[in-house]
Amino acid sequence: MRTHQYRDIICTTCTCRHLSADDIFDEVRVKEPKIGRATVYRNIEAMAEEGVLRRFPGINGKTYYECNDATHAHLVDDATGMFCDFPMSNISVSGIPDGYDIAEIRIQIRKQ
Ligand SMILES: [Zn+2]
Repeated sequence: MRTHQYRDIICTTCTCRHLSADDIFDEVRVKEPKIGRATVYRNIEAMAEEGVLRRFPGINGKTYYECNDATHAHLVDDATGMFCDFPMSNISVSGIPDGYDIAEIRIQIRKQ
């Protein structure tokens, strides 16, 4: 795994939260005022590719990121744009055909 110059700042920013790249950039810039948007985006994408950040589709086609790498679902409130983690132990999956294993589950439960 590569070392990213801004990894600690980005991970601290994302801890227990679900943020867009713009949200992360705005908060990282408070700590590093001279940092460029492209630098933050490049670090975020590299960290997502390496599994340090989890990337998931948000509302209105935006991509969001988080540091919680445990398998979980999201409760999404369309009115406020807020995401909450929802434990997979509350969700049951059945009817999976023979020969398939669950490698990843992504569930978003939306409130409109
Ligand atoms: Zn989450």
